[in-house]
Amino acid sequence: MTLLRRPPARIPWARVNAEAARRFGVERFRPGQRELIEAALSGRDAIGILPTGAGKSLCYQLPALFLPSPTVIVSPLLALMKDQQDKLAQADVDAAKLDSTLSAAEEREAVQEIREGEHPIVYVTPERLEQPEALDALRRTGVSLFVIDEAHCISQWGHDFRPSYLFLGDVVRQLGRPPVLALTATATPEVVADVRAQLGIPEARVIATGIERQNLFFEVHRTVSEDAKLERLSGLLREEPGAGIVYAATIREVEALAGRLAAVGVEAARYHGRLRAVERREAQERFMEGRCRVMIATKAFGMGIDKPDIRFVAHWHFPDSVESYYQEAGRAGRDGAPARAALLYRLEDRRVQAYFLGGKYPRSDEAWRVYVALLEAPGPLTVTEVAARAGLGERTARAVLAWLHGTGAVERSRARFGRGRGFASAADLGRFLDEHERRLAADHGRLEAMMRYAETTGCRAQYLRRYFAEPEREPCGHCDNCRDHPAERLAEPVPAPAAPEVAPQVLAAGALPAEPLPFNAGEAVRHRSFGPGEVVSVEGDKVTVAFAAAGEKVIQASYLEAARGSA
Ligand code: ADP
Ligand code: MG
Repeated sequence: MTLLRRPPARIPWARVNAEAARRFGVERFRPGQRELIEAALSGRDAIGILPTGAGKSLCYQLPALFLPSPTVIVSPLLALMKDQQDKLAQADVDAAKLDSTLSAAEEREAVQEIREGEHPIVYVTPERLEQPEALDALRRTGVSLFVIDEAHCISQWGHDFRPSYLFLGDVVRQLGRPPVLALTATATPEVVADVRAQLGIPEARVIATGIERQNLFFEVHRTVSEDAKLERLSGLLREEPGAGIVYAATIREVEALAGRLAAVGVEAARYHGRLRAVERREAQERFMEGRCRVMIATKAFGMGIDKPDIRFVAHWHFPDSVESYYQEAGRAGRDGAPARAALLYRLEDRRVQAYFLGGKYPRSDEAWRVYVALLEAPGPLTVTEVAARAGLGERTARAVLAWLHGTGAVERSRARFGRGRGFASAADLGRFLDEHERRLAADHGRLEAMMRYAETTGCRAQYLRRYFAEPEREPCGHCDNCRDHPAERLAEPVPAPAAPEVAPQVLAAGALPAEPLPFNAGEAVRHRSFGPGEVVSVEGDKVTVAFAAAGEKVIQASYLEAARGSA
């Protein structure tokens, strides 16, 4: 393969066009692409916010062919990297990848090839960049462009956060500060600010083409029981003959749901992190090739999946944020034909997410004592040993270990714990932990905003525009609320989304109306005849309650009492 190595500034646009057509079959650039490609070719930092399917990959793959040193792409998913590597091979571009699937020998070979400048494009997971060999190899060849694909991961924490994303700013510096390109489909102003700060690119130009997809129809189905929810989902699957994805929150739920759908005659593929790689690949292929029309998956499935004719994306559980929701729902209807984005939920689902976001955080001096105990130990320790060495109770030690493990500071193998990431001092670890806490609080705020999306009676597209700070426009006219309450939709103001920095308690307090409500949504209550139930919504002194036995009813507040022991 011949590479087109030229000093960046002198590349005529006609050559870029010609290469786009010749290698990628692209006749015309789509909105945002040209600006991002120009930024990359001229060495300016940029942040690209382009909807799913808009063609973000081309914005670095094409410049990479003209730049003197490799373009490095940080990508969160192995499947995504593999997919892109295969596609590039078809375009006669030899991309390397560095990830955990390589054997030691393969990795050595890849690193050697990178050093010798054989690859214009190098895909790498953020975890790999923490390893000195990979970083060294790249430092030696030099990097012409450093790309973070799916850049919202930098700002996404919660149960599946990747500590390595925190260190990308460091990596950029160690690579001698090459131009940076961050790409994502969904970014609130807060996420953009975070990406700039984390990567150290305060001046980066933001190129955003607007997130709205006219052909996506948003709808929310609130159900009172698990059975009603399944009924609703089966209904949706009957109404929609096309291909679709059903997202569930956990691996166990994916398995359970697949079983329940099979029982009502729906054959679905499954995809989650606990399947073997071959099983995942097989499931993905069956779905991509249309041999199986429904995919039930955790959020592990779909990032970067390029299947244009997905007709619906249903959420069996609450996603953790509006960003996640929009990313996942946006996989429907890439071909531009109408597609449905349906959120199914019960109020309980919110608790599932809140649980994931974690309860109390240990104090940082406790965290440091545990960390030092591991640091000074000759080998991995059990919880009891850690507690003894750190001078803490076993319960505290266990909580701290679980939490540190979640942050990547501690590693676990079977029942033993060892040191993970290195920290130089208590202050260093403290800063890391403070940041972690700040982000967990932000995650709570995001979940709140997702809850409000589900509960709004206004136009859902308007809510989403507000959330992503898009310009105000008319109601969409085709979401469930526009369709069902055409009169109300104009009257109701769209609530502003939560500022993620604010702790959830503060948000809740700020949202309280002047007159205190007798009950809050989600609260457990009891009625003399109907028994226990859960508050769905409150309007003045009229409370809508979902009763375990009697279903949903509107009750005068004075006839209800708070169920004891509820949070
Ligand atoms: P994104 O990462 O933004 O979700 P991809 O980079 O995966 O999107 O591109 C989606 C699809 O669009 C790919 O099949 C790609 O080849 C195609 N594509 C990208 N840019 C163009 C273009 N300018 N013209 C036609 N097709 C394009
Ligand atoms: Mg992509």
